[in-house]
Amino acid sequence: MPSSDQKPPFPAPNSTLPFWRTQPDKLDDYRSTEELPAECDIVIIGAGYAGASVAYHLLDGNPSPPSIVMLEARQACSGATGRNGGHLKPSLYASVTNMTPKYGREAAEELAKFEMAHVSAIKRLMEKENIDCDFHITRSFDVFLTESQNEKVKRDYDALNQAGVISVLDVHYTSGDKAERLVESAKRHFDGYMQRHFRGWEDSRAYTDRVWSGVMGYSSDNLPHVGHVPGKPGLLIIAGFTGHGMPQIFLSAKGIAQMIREGKSFEGTGVPRLYQTTQKRLDSKENAPLAAIGREINLGQVRL
Ligand SMILES: Cc1cc2nc3c(=O)[nH]c(=O)nc-3n(C[C@H](O)[C@H](O)[C@H](O)COP(=O)(O)OP(=O)(O)OC[C@H]3O[C@@H](n4cnc5c(N)ncnc54)[C@H](O)[C@@H]3O)c2cc1C
Repeated sequence: MPSSDQKPPFPAPNSTLPFWRTQPDKLDDYRSTEELPAECDIVIIGAGYAGASVAYHLLDGNPSPPSIVMLEARQACSGATGRNGGHLKPSLYASVTNMTPKYGREAAEELAKFEMAHVSAIKRLMEKENIDCDFHITRSFDVFLTESQNEKVKRDYDALNQAGVISVLDVHYTSGDKAERLVESAKRHFDGYMQRHFRGWEDSRAYTDRVWSGVMGYSSDNLPHVGHVPGKPGLLIIAGFTGHGMPQIFLSAKGIAQMIREGKSFEGTGVPRLYQTTQKRLDSKENAPLAAIGREINLGQVRL
């Protein structure tokens, strides 16, 4: 904690302006009251994807909505959420492979299923709330650039298939010339994208005009923290999404709201058991993200 004469290190005063925030909504800097209310039922700290999703689930279809104060250090969605790539891409095999040795297959599979459930949950949300956001369901590729990486992924993929892991049923493996052709066709995908896809833009000479950066926060075991904070009655956490919050946050927030609204236990919410925050996880000295980078350096496989 900085002393009172020191400025807090965050938020950074000179952050870059992401494209998503070039035309801010009226909620961007919205302040509902001059003074903070003296009391309320719930305080939400942070108005990003997590905070907004918790507020949504607390209020959605609630006949007796609680009073909520939402506090935001900067502007709505000015953090990771507003700097996002926008890829709601469930991790269907890597999470199962990476987490199985430590936590067992059943717990690891929960992660993949939960992420997959976000695709339809967010689709339903867009339709129900009539949100205009270019939501587009498509296929995606993971490309492995070295032979050793490719061999490992193929081994893992075959093992998951053999074990009948449901989340990999829709994952296809391609190698050799066929994979090269796929990469080739994707390489220049965004060149002239607007000209190719939008009527009236054909001669626009549209080009990239905004590049921005953002900080990704990693938890020490690469898993989110969700639920009641041990030893702090009345305090819940939904954080630590490790650069991958799009297919994890919305239904985690639903779980948090169920815990508050209905007094459900964490186990009753359907949020993966590995997301539950515990004293053991909070105390752990593990640094899984750095360890993973170390492994990749050894294999000569660092990706950006
Ligand atoms: C460059 C970039 C690209 C990404 N691309 C993807 C992607 O393609 N797919 C994907 O799944 N994920 C992606 N992510 C990750 C994803 O954006 C995050 O997981 C997600 O947005 C996290 O949401 P959040 O609400 O937890 O955090 P944030 O959006 O960071 O929200 C936290 C908010 O809390 C506020 N705050 C913090 N401390 C305080 C305080 N003390 N008081 C008041 N307010 C406070 C902050 O100002 C901030 O607005 C990306 C992240 C970055 C940075």
